[in-house]
Amino acid sequence: MMSDKFETDVLVVGSGPAGALMANLLARRGVNVLLAEKTSDFERNFRGETIAARSVLTLRELGFGPRLAAHGFVELEGISFWETGKSIMSMDYRKFPIDALPIDIPQPAMIGAFNDESAGYANFKLLMGYQFTSLIEDGEAVRGAMLESPRGTKIEVRARLVIAADGRFSPVRKASGLTAKITPMERDFVWFKLPRPNDWARESQLVVKRDRHLVILPTFPDLLRIGYNLPKKGFGNARKLGIGAFRDSICDLDPRLTDLVQEHITTWNDTSFLEIFTAEVDQWARHGLLLIGDASHTATPILGQGVNLALQDTIYFAPVIAQALKNGTGPLPANALEPTAQLRREHKGMVTRFQRLQEANLAQHSALGTMMRRTKLRLLNLNPGKYWMLDKVLNAPHNMPVEAPHDKAA
Ligand SMILES: Cc1cc2nc3c(=O)[nH]c(=O)nc-3n(C[C@H](O)[C@H](O)[C@H](O)COP(=O)(O)OP(=O)(O)OC[C@H]3O[C@@H](n4cnc5c(N)ncnc54)[C@H](O)[C@@H]3O)c2cc1C
Repeated sequence: MMSDKFETDVLVVGSGPAGALMANLLARRGVNVLLAEKTSDFERNFRGETIAARSVLTLRELGFGPRLAAHGFVELEGISFWETGKSIMSMDYRKFPIDALPIDIPQPAMIGAFNDESAGYANFKLLMGYQFTSLIEDGEAVRGAMLESPRGTKIEVRARLVIAADGRFSPVRKASGLTAKITPMERDFVWFKLPRPNDWARESQLVVKRDRHLVILPTFPDLLRIGYNLPKKGFGNARKLGIGAFRDSICDLDPRLTDLVQEHITTWNDTSFLEIFTAEVDQWARHGLLLIGDASHTATPILGQGVNLALQDTIYFAPVIAQALKNGTGPLPANALEPTAQLRREHKGMVTRFQRLQEANLAQHSALGTMMRRTKLRLLNLNPGKYWMLDKVLNAPHNMPVEAPHDKAA
């Protein structure tokens, strides 16, 4: 039982990939950490499930390999770009200079692996079903936050650092006054899942027809996770036209899916809508407050980097936070966090710029524009330098901090 007042070193708000790993890495370093999650379970059907190769390596180094393997995952062996029924560009992930493949694993399994490991530390506490409601501030410094249970129980948490890991709409960010530049993308997405045919390649596929496209991702255990782009705010219109018209447009785009779509997409409940925007924040820290993961920078789904970027924020910030806590008392000063925030902003900015280029490429609808896209992709396919180019985006950063021995799971 918790009383209505609680004191800790760090309060992490949100147990997504960023918050759960952050709480774990701080607990390993002996920091008192309270992790508060507003939902009462981790069931989330449509979220980033792809962990990029760089993060897979890091999670192995941290000792999570056996827990992830015990659950099971799908290893992705490549990526290909399809138009008019043919693959016009492909890459084999096994040719990248990195000793891991990206994996697809449901978010509840990954978050569960982090929180199960954390549960072994007496200095770690997880509060499920408690949501952040407001910050406790004292002049310029954040001193903690108020949480509320579903039954209305309020808890005052005093902390030297509040970490906002509460996702793309971040209530903590909104309360903090740190502003995000929100840029809507031209199109939104509808996600759905289908059973995966036995002979389906273990690769991500982009299937394009003019300015319409599908992203098809092999998903654990034996599914395909498929994203279909719609014009901005076009979901209402699609619903008016009906599920039959929606099915027809998917089948028109990729006839390989016809039987599966007809059988498994029967109502809108079989789909999930995702509004696509980027959120960029110039300042991630105040005294006593830090934003990480989607709260600090929301990327688009192109090349599935959201989870990867969220995990990397954590790997970079955890040692810096643990050291800064030892160096003083009171709210953690923003200037102790700013150099790391700057590094991460540069990396996330690079990914977002690349995603915007790809989005513009995919949005081509004129005959000339699509012809030029096809030509560029065919030329790229013949160029061995394509591995070097994509490695820079997919497998960055190449100088990830090396984990010290005390970071290994017990
Ligand atoms: C439908 C959908 C599909 C996606 N597909 C992909 C994909 O294919 N590839 C990819 O890389 N990324 C994808 N993403 C993005 C990816 O899921 C995110 O980038 C990633 O989960 C970010 O991790 P995070 O920990 O920063 O935030 P989140 O995973 O969003 O976690 C935030 C957590 O904070 C909790 N929270 C929110 N408000 C409060 C509050 N007031 N108090 C307490 N807790 C709170 C939430 O319940 C949640 O558990 C998708 C996202 C969505 C929504």
